[in-house]
Amino acid sequence: MTGERTFKALVVDKVDGKIVHEIKQLTVNDLPPEDVLIKVDYSTVNYKEGLGFAGRSKIFRQFPMVPGLDLSGTVVESESPDYKPGDQVILNGWSVGERYWGGYAQMARIKSDFLIPLPKGMDTKKAMAIGTVGYTAMLCVMTLEEAGIKPESGPVIVTGAAGGVGSNAVAILAKLGYEVTALTAQGQESMQEFLKELGAKSFAGGKEWSEMPRPLETQKWMGAVDTVGTIVLSRVLSEMSYGGCVAACGLAGGPDLPTTVMPFILRGVSLRGVDSVWCPTSRRKAAWERLVTDIPDSALAKINKVIKLEEVPRYTKDILLGKVQGHLVVDVNA
Ligand code: NDP
Repeated sequence: MTGERTFKALVVDKVDGKIVHEIKQLTVNDLPPEDVLIKVDYSTVNYKEGLGFAGRSKIFRQFPMVPGLDLSGTVVESESPDYKPGDQVILNGWSVGERYWGGYAQMARIKSDFLIPLPKGMDTKKAMAIGTVGYTAMLCVMTLEEAGIKPESGPVIVTGAAGGVGSNAVAILAKLGYEVTALTAQGQESMQEFLKELGAKSFAGGKEWSEMPRPLETQKWMGAVDTVGTIVLSRVLSEMSYGGCVAACGLAGGPDLPTTVMPFILRGVSLRGVDSVWCPTSRRKAAWERLVTDIPDSALAKINKVIKLEEVPRYTKDILLGKVQGHLVVDVNA
């Protein structure tokens, strides 16, 4: 591929301590010197990019930076024996879009160790319709399964259910036959309709979710996927049934966890952390293989909204304000 041909990229920089962004025309020679050159089809917008564009939490570790923590596309050139031109690939995590240039560009050079082949039965659009949020939701479900929580074990709750990870978790758990309760802080009817269509059987909400629970509340859930943290996770823990498991992956409400040891020592509840960024490749591949079948296309069509590269900055603001329902896919070639 000639280094002269230009392509579009959304580049962020830090000027006078502030994050600024611009759509730029780059050439392949501008890309970092990694071993696989990819023609990007799709990327996504996540909570993390919301934090990064707002200049919070030091998400971007070097400047200039092409953000976009995931991407799907086709290999154009490869110095790695693992990939050849024409191979379709997925990338997410590994600090891409934070330390390494990511998916908000029509071309990307990526370390081959970070890539996985697109599983059979999935195309590049579906891969990013699932995105890091769907893959994280799958890791949460696998975590519950590993703790022995099966559909017949009892009800499960998903917090932050209207968000990207939450809505995917609702859809996957419902497809697998779990009885899912969705917790949405906003609780609007339109949100409930959306979550019902994804398979939620019932809803939790109300003012008790913003109050500290007692150390042990009535036992309600055998499994939980928590994307919110803080006192929402405290209440989930206090409402877990004997032997239940919580898969905790997010901090949309805050990073603190005011709780007691009571659910752990009196009800044998377990709290398992889920990380998608440094997840080993074998587990990553297993999660992506399962996503070919374990999330219905009908659910993905409801969860996703496709936007252009130029629209990304605006949506990063909305995502922090909790105004985005579901998940944003970026068509970098639109
Ligand atoms: P979204 O913004 O799409 O969704 C978050 C949801 O959380 C919102 O839709 C809202 O849902 C709920 N929420 C937001 N603020 C509050 C609050 N103050 N109190 C209660 N609920 C709140 O984010 P994502 O789904 O993309 O990510 C969710 C979390 O998971 C984030 O913290 C993200 O950083 C983390 N994450 C972690 C990963 C990992 O590897 N561990 C990977 C991907 C994401 P509702 O209106 O339904 O309550």
